[in-house]
Amino acid sequence: MKRRRRVYEGKAKILYEGPEPGTLVQHFKDDATAFNKRKHEIVDGKGVLNNRISEHIFTNLNEIGIPTHFLRRLNMREQLIKEVEIIPLEVVVRNIAAGSIVTRLGAEEGTQLSRSIIEFYYKNDELDDPIVSEEHITAFGWATPPEIDDIMSLAIRINDFLCGMFISVGIRLVDFKMEFGRHYEDDMMRIVLADEISPDSCRLWDTKTNDKMDKDRFRQELGGMLEAYREVARRLGVLTENEPVTKGTGPVLVKTESED
Ligand code: UDP
Repeated sequence: MKRRRRVYEGKAKILYEGPEPGTLVQHFKDDATAFNKRKHEIVDGKGVLNNRISEHIFTNLNEIGIPTHFLRRLNMREQLIKEVEIIPLEVVVRNIAAGSIVTRLGAEEGTQLSRSIIEFYYKNDELDDPIVSEEHITAFGWATPPEIDDIMSLAIRINDFLCGMFISVGIRLVDFKMEFGRHYEDDMMRIVLADEISPDSCRLWDTKTNDKMDKDRFRQELGGMLEAYREVARRLGVLTENEPVTKGTGPVLVKTESED
């Protein structure tokens, strides 16, 4: 088999050159990292679950007219995506106070915010992804004012859609992180949602029990990370009840557009 060229390797994903120009293959690894890689473990099967959950979310977003980089899932761990120029920002939307807003501003964990808050962080591991304002973003040229407007309106639409999607399966979307990119086509550029949306990049709390169903299980050493991710997938209807996700036993497809 022809060896694929690796374009980029991050903490939880690898990007390979795609089969056609302008495409890439996004590969989900089993690596779990936190605190800027100071905590690192392999969680067997996490990549498979994140691939499926993110596919589900991006497919739905594409269907409601939110532009994303997602084209289709290729296999258990990989998806075909459009090549974009990543904007070096982590865009966080918060609905309920948790995580860094609690430590930074003294908000009480679990407080419903009176309005959703959008925050920007500069993607830079050496600097530990510092929070930045629109002033920094435009002054340093990471994005232009119209691009920031596009990003903010997409972020709000995505948040509204995801809040509804998760609440209908008994999960509260506390906060989540997005990345955006510039997609160039026919001399046109448009801002599209990139990267992934999965329990690695969201805080998800069970509506009834307040149980954490996201990466905080790993960050806070609560245990049961894979089981929680599997439960998110099951509730979203992307995995059957006892579908295996660990190595050697490929998950059975419930439904796909291209394979049935
Ligand atoms: N987040 C992420 N990657 C990061 C930092 C944050 O996916 O590098 C997500 C995190 O999972 C949470 C949201 O962004 O859902 C807000 O994170 P926060 O600023 O509270 O930071 P944390 O406490 O997670 O370090």
